Amino acid sequence: MTTTSFRSVFDAAFIRSEFDQSGINTQFIPSIWKYVIQNPNCEWRDIPSLPAAAYSLLSSKFKPCTSAVDSVSDSADEVTTKLLIKLQNGASVETVIMRYDSSLGKYGGNPRSGGPRSTLCISSQVGCKMGCKFCATGTMGFKSNLSTGEIVEQLVHASRISPIRNIVFMGMGEPLNNYTALVEAIRVMTSYPFQISPRKITVSTVGIIHAINKFHDDLPNLNLAVSLHAPVQDIRCQIMPAARAFPLGKLMDALAAYQKKSQQKIFIEYIMLDGVNDEEQHAHQLGKLLETFEVVVNLIPFNPIGTLSQFGTSEDDKVTKFQRILRNTHNIRTTVRKQMGQDISGACGQLVIDLSKKKSTSLTDIEDIRR
Ligand code: SF4
Repeated sequence: MTTTSFRSVFDAAFIRSEFDQSGINTQFIPSIWKYVIQNPNCEWRDIPSLPAAAYSLLSSKFKPCTSAVDSVSDSADEVTTKLLIKLQNGASVETVIMRYDSSLGKYGGNPRSGGPRSTLCISSQVGCKMGCKFCATGTMGFKSNLSTGEIVEQLVHASRISPIRNIVFMGMGEPLNNYTALVEAIRVMTSYPFQISPRKITVSTVGIIHAINKFHDDLPNLNLAVSLHAPVQDIRCQIMPAARAFPLGKLMDALAAYQKKSQQKIFIEYIMLDGVNDEEQHAHQLGKLLETFEVVVNLIPFNPIGTLSQFGTSEDDKVTKFQRILRNTHNIRTTVRKQMGQDISGACGQLVIDLSKKKSTSLTDIEDIRR
């Protein structure tokens, strides 16, 4: 058996099926996960009290973690920590820890302590095929889907640095394009021993309609964030080519059906691009589009990504005016995203794995839904 054929012990469906086939009680699995989380360099034989058949199965088919942390970078203010994670196939993704606990001082005492409000931004794919023009990851194209285990392992690695309370799927990739692995990973994360509350997990999508249609049934009580970024279809298509496959009218119908079923507010992400979608008329169009919805709009100042994008950053007063129109004229709760981690390329839409270098440098689309 080659090294690459080992599976992550966090590949939940696979390990359950292997245990079932070998007649091993699957109830041992969560305690195996707990041991692995607490003992980063453990060997299978270290885990106490498993049936003999479990040790031999684990040794022949599984690794405690198939990925490894390649590097850890803290932002200058130590609020953001970026982990570069190397996958078994040689590709890399990043996961970013963001700390918000102002009550504990800027860093919550020990910057690595995280405090009670650490949020983890997780990647779901290597690269992304959606090709959003403002996003560095979009320039990479699609490389591969992460497995359930590779998604969960980002939480395992991060939780050894900071206690994680919130999770956002806003790292590299379109999570709903890796739907099966995403659903399974979230089910692992919300169960023992992770026990992250579903209400503390947000999945962000550009608007994959067929997946939105089943999202609530598969993952009740999660938060859904939609990267709308424009109030009309032609601007959406201009900045998000994938929007051609998901017409705005049909997307809004899917969101209305989702909201009716879930009774939950929807988070709308809107990146502010100078002269493209940040004029007063766009704010009014957006307000009208959303007036029948229960939403929170999150305005995102564009992070310059050098030569990778032709867009400019909207002036602060334009962002403020846009926010005021949505709030005052259309009565829509609207926040402006705080920029975090720019000095380590850990901010939204800023980052990309540099394929020309052996060592990957960064990723994209790190978003913060603060509430
Ligand atoms: S913004 Fe998100 S969906 Fe769009 S290309 Fe970047 S990673 Fe993909």
